[in-house]
Amino acid sequence: MNSRLGTLSLLSLSLILAACGGNTAPSDPSTFNLSTLAPGQKKEINSKLKINVVLVGYRPTAPGQVAGPKDVNVSDFGDIMPATGRNIARIPSAYGTLEPTGNTFDYDYNFVYANKSFEDGFFSYLTSKDVGTEKPLTYYQKAYNCQNTPKDGSAPACAAPASNIAQPITGNLEIDGVLAENWLADHANDTGVDSSQYTIFLVNWYGRSDFKFHSFTRTDAADSDTKSPFGAKASRRTNAWGGTPRAGGKTQRVWFYDLSANPEAWTTSWDISNADVDGDGVPDYRMPPIWEYGTRKATYRPFTKVGPDLARVARYVAVDLLFTPSPIYRAELTPPDMPENINLNVAFKQGAGAPAPTTVFNGALSQERLKVLQPFATFSNSLREAPLTGPIFDAYKCLFPQPNPDPKLPPVLCSPDRADATGDRLFNIGLNELRDQYKDKAAYQVPIFAFNDNQNTQPGLLGVAIDDGVTGTQALVYSFLTPELNKDFGYGFTDTITHEVGHHFSLSHPHDGYDSESNTEYGPSGPFTFVNAGDMSNTVMSYNDLTRGFGQFNLDSQYRYLTSAYLNNANAVLELVQQAGKDKVQAVTAAAKNADGQFAGAITSYQNMEYLSAAKQAHTAYRAVIDAARSAGVNVQAYKWYERLDGLSLGQKAQPRRADNFLPVQGTAVRPETTAFLTRLRLSK
Ligand SMILES: [Zn+2]
Repeated sequence: MNSRLGTLSLLSLSLILAACGGNTAPSDPSTFNLSTLAPGQKKEINSKLKINVVLVGYRPTAPGQVAGPKDVNVSDFGDIMPATGRNIARIPSAYGTLEPTGNTFDYDYNFVYANKSFEDGFFSYLTSKDVGTEKPLTYYQKAYNCQNTPKDGSAPACAAPASNIAQPITGNLEIDGVLAENWLADHANDTGVDSSQYTIFLVNWYGRSDFKFHSFTRTDAADSDTKSPFGAKASRRTNAWGGTPRAGGKTQRVWFYDLSANPEAWTTSWDISNADVDGDGVPDYRMPPIWEYGTRKATYRPFTKVGPDLARVARYVAVDLLFTPSPIYRAELTPPDMPENINLNVAFKQGAGAPAPTTVFNGALSQERLKVLQPFATFSNSLREAPLTGPIFDAYKCLFPQPNPDPKLPPVLCSPDRADATGDRLFNIGLNELRDQYKDKAAYQVPIFAFNDNQNTQPGLLGVAIDDGVTGTQALVYSFLTPELNKDFGYGFTDTITHEVGHHFSLSHPHDGYDSESNTEYGPSGPFTFVNAGDMSNTVMSYNDLTRGFGQFNLDSQYRYLTSAYLNNANAVLELVQQAGKDKVQAVTAAAKNADGQFAGAITSYQNMEYLSAAKQAHTAYRAVIDAARSAGVNVQAYKWYERLDGLSLGQKAQPRRADNFLPVQGTAVRPETTAFLTRLRLSK
């Protein structure tokens, strides 16, 4: 590696010397002459990314044979896997113009069939003591056997297995998903694969003599405030896991997906009787357990679909949502002057008799988890409290449309003439608070409103990270707690606020996103129902409550967004310098040339997948550019969305925002947890 870099450096040095020798024209003193930086331009950092696809328990069709059940061929992936990727900021793009983040990819797929000794080793590990434990069938394994879930909430029971299933589940070996992930990462090298590269393990245990019905768990997962054990819930059994940050300096980028596990609730793989499981009138495409492909009994799906289904999961879950996802918001926050100090400004709106804020929110813990997303900023957090009464309580209630007394008419909305209909009153109250309180603050304030309701005013929304309604800039963070969400479902504020601020800092869910080759924005419903499998990975951005912090895939993508943001905001600052005249250009030239070299180093690190190092170098270079510009007297202003909403201000009636500019993005920043999920399950019988 070192010697190759040495050769490259010598080569580029000689090219630079040749260029200098041949260039006799004087450079224009009113513009910068740089190589990596390009004042006023938006640059995209392209990288070639190896993606390993390791097939464990699948075989290709032997030459001359008829393709048979459970055969999976590389050609199954050929038409489905994307050759390239291009990230966009999803909510800003929903306002009508696609907004690239500056991160593009050429994917280089490496398909590998694991050999028998790898498979023997893995499946033997899963059954070994302290790894797999025999447990009773889960609620959803029973639901699969009977193909129903009783309305009264009791366990599914049937005198005989449902006639349309291929076979009943008769056992449940429970396995910690992280143990399985780590084994695969640690043994990838036996298949010739480097697990520090993005690696998908597509697993099938079924068909081997040592097969056991099994499910993956994260049993230690619990809410940060209430300690409610979400990992123990039947609905949180998984058939996939990955993205766990590995301690001890080793980086792994592994996600496994096991079609022979469970079936489970999160992707509704247990239900092979109903096409439309969420009740929206559209068939919901999802992957059944592997034994439902190509049986002679009431075939759910032909066996020829195993390979293409795995390819869909590889593309629309692993590549698009986990490995190289598009962010929901810009990582810049306040372009072109990105903040160096960030305060989590938490305003509790406190219902009378609701739990004391410090018993349901740990600001230090949320800050500790969030700071990795802005690793060069200095963090703080603050908490203030006001009663949830009067106009703010009325505005809060407006978020939840009231049923119309005449059921044939649409629900009653508080602000029917506005782009975000129900949320407009609350948005204006938040905006006024910001304008009133933020003007003297030097640090960037994340405006977090914690509605600590003492009644069940609303049906179960945990939080939302909303934008400004005009430019798609991240604006306010709301989080909600009701007695039902707190006492019955076990939620506090800490994990919701961490999740919502994760959105505010850019991140998408692992279950919705953007596919650039088909220019498709998608979430887990209809033909993309199966992408709920993305939630089966290490991230608090998931809906399944199995992780409290940010995983390897979050960190990789955030540091890529930041590297590009520093590069492009340095370009914007240099453009401001050029506009200020040639004296300013001269004053900034030395700093710009130095930064230019640092950005070249940052891009090399980026292309070597050293993303934190890349972002760090880019940050240093960016700071040098902005500091030099300011020293030279160039005016660089941070974009503050709350100063830029014309017609919205204290005491004035707001002007209607244009509804036709507002294209809803499927499954964006809303976190309609728990009751929404339970509703979906109730509808899925
Ligand atoms: Zn969310």
